[in-house]
Amino acid sequence: MYRTHTCGELRIENAGQTVTLSGWVDASRDFGGMTFMDLRDRYGITQIVFNMDSDAALCEEARKLGREYVIRVTGEVRERSAKNLKRLTGEIEILAKNLEVLNAAKVPPFTITEDTDGGDDLRMKYRYLDIRRHSVQSKIIFRSVLGLETRKYLSGHGFIEIETPFLIKSTPEGARDFVVPSRLNPGQFYALPQSPQTFKQILMVAGMDKYFQIVKCFRDEDLRADRQPEFTQIDCEMSFVHREDILQTFEGLIHHLFLSMLEVDLGAFPRMSYDEAMQRYGVDKPDLRFGMPIHELNEKAKGKGFSIFDQAAYIGALVLSGEADHYSNKEIKELTEWVQRPQIGAKGLIYVKCLEDGSFKSSVDKFYGAEDLRAWADFTGAKPGDILFILSGEQDKTPKQLGELRLELGRKHFLIQAGDFKPLWVLDFPLLEWDEEAGRFFAMHHPFTSPKTGDIEKMASDDRAVLAGIRADAYDLVINGTEIGGGSIRIHDRGLQSKNFSLLGFTPEQAQDQFGFLLNAFEFGAPPHGGIAFGFDRLCAVMQGQTSIRDYIAFPKNNMGRDMMIDAPSAIDDKQLKELGVNVVKSE
Ligand code: ASP
Repeated sequence: MYRTHTCGELRIENAGQTVTLSGWVDASRDFGGMTFMDLRDRYGITQIVFNMDSDAALCEEARKLGREYVIRVTGEVRERSAKNLKRLTGEIEILAKNLEVLNAAKVPPFTITEDTDGGDDLRMKYRYLDIRRHSVQSKIIFRSVLGLETRKYLSGHGFIEIETPFLIKSTPEGARDFVVPSRLNPGQFYALPQSPQTFKQILMVAGMDKYFQIVKCFRDEDLRADRQPEFTQIDCEMSFVHREDILQTFEGLIHHLFLSMLEVDLGAFPRMSYDEAMQRYGVDKPDLRFGMPIHELNEKAKGKGFSIFDQAAYIGALVLSGEADHYSNKEIKELTEWVQRPQIGAKGLIYVKCLEDGSFKSSVDKFYGAEDLRAWADFTGAKPGDILFILSGEQDKTPKQLGELRLELGRKHFLIQAGDFKPLWVLDFPLLEWDEEAGRFFAMHHPFTSPKTGDIEKMASDDRAVLAGIRADAYDLVINGTEIGGGSIRIHDRGLQSKNFSLLGFTPEQAQDQFGFLLNAFEFGAPPHGGIAFGFDRLCAVMQGQTSIRDYIAFPKNNMGRDMMIDAPSAIDDKQLKELGVNVVKSE
């Protein structure tokens, strides 16, 4: 028998028992007469003692073991004299009677401790050693349980998990496809799905209402901490539903996940239109863990001879509470430089300090008297002690810049409480988004998203402003400023779908060529339907207050899309290329 117990299991009640444990040598300390060894497995760490007096040969043997050796130890559980109450097994130790090396190990390239000295790429190259660390393991286990709870909830609500293929034709979610050459069809390629979107809609036509799948999706995009080329979605679709049915059902799912995993009751999720989110927070995924909405100041600030404001299409302010008196010029300068960084792109930053004595101090004192500034304070709700930060500029850029500044102020002034969760449904996204470079509209969500019923007639217009104003029956779930899920009610009418394709610049032939299978299916009785997909890796990270999704993925890729452990992607040999009918132009 390799083990009678795991390394996380033994307690004071087990004292006196003879047990066998197997695991990895985490650390050992040699005190001459005694050698203490920490034995680790995924359940925990147990201290083993080798005693010179009771068995000198065994003790000698134990001293020779290096870190990460795999061993089996048999011995007696006894109470420890110096207890380690931080560890669940910290009240006991095992007095070793027998030791067997199951496998030797080379010295690991980094320490397998919580504060490891391994850099990212090294940890990824030796990911199996990295996963031995408790913090990584616990994230992977969290993910596994979250998946189980998701399946439990959805199947409990009548959803059926159905797999859809990975080798498909391109699904347009707005990213680049990964493609796979077909050996049997030389010169032709499959695409890996960016999402199962068209398949799940076809499953609705097939009558399989209430579908879900925890599924890999593939998008060839530039990578960031919360993006991976292959990631996982909880993908869902329902038939005979309105938006309200979807919101209720999936609010229920998320509510259940937070309650069962974290014992957090999220309450009813607030809702906000896309327009309101953009106006009040400058972003379509507001972080509601703190307030500080944007106040448009156009009417209050124009016409007083300050040309920067007079020429701006938009002027907006944020109120930072209670900081006026101790905000130094240096801090204001730093903040000004922060908004002027190319990533933010503001021209400058105006401030107004509302001082405790009721007076004001601002960078625009020359143009605005106390009465004007008081009017701004009243309008924005700023009180004595508060400070206003104002940006001005273009209509479409300035609110976004204010949104970024708001987040920065939130971070800088610790306005976000750890462990706080603020969900939000964002509703009524625009259907179409104009792309200046391409000179055409793109679907803001995807081309299968339905316009809101009241806006359908606007689709006949050829006025760009009217088209840009069409609202879609699309929704996002945002938690703590991160987009966790998104979906829409779909178009189920062939004519309307064709119309939408034409607004997106497809000729009827192109639409038929790319999406003929869906358009054809719509001719055979497509039910009204809609759905949503949640980013599963992201949900894990947000629930645990992490910014990176990487450790929730057992084998993630680095920023260059490389798997450092298996060294992929890699070249393939000429024979394989020939067989696939692929000609590669090799770069130097
Ligand atoms: N397929 C969509 C996405 O990946 C989600 C949906 O509309 O259901 O974002």
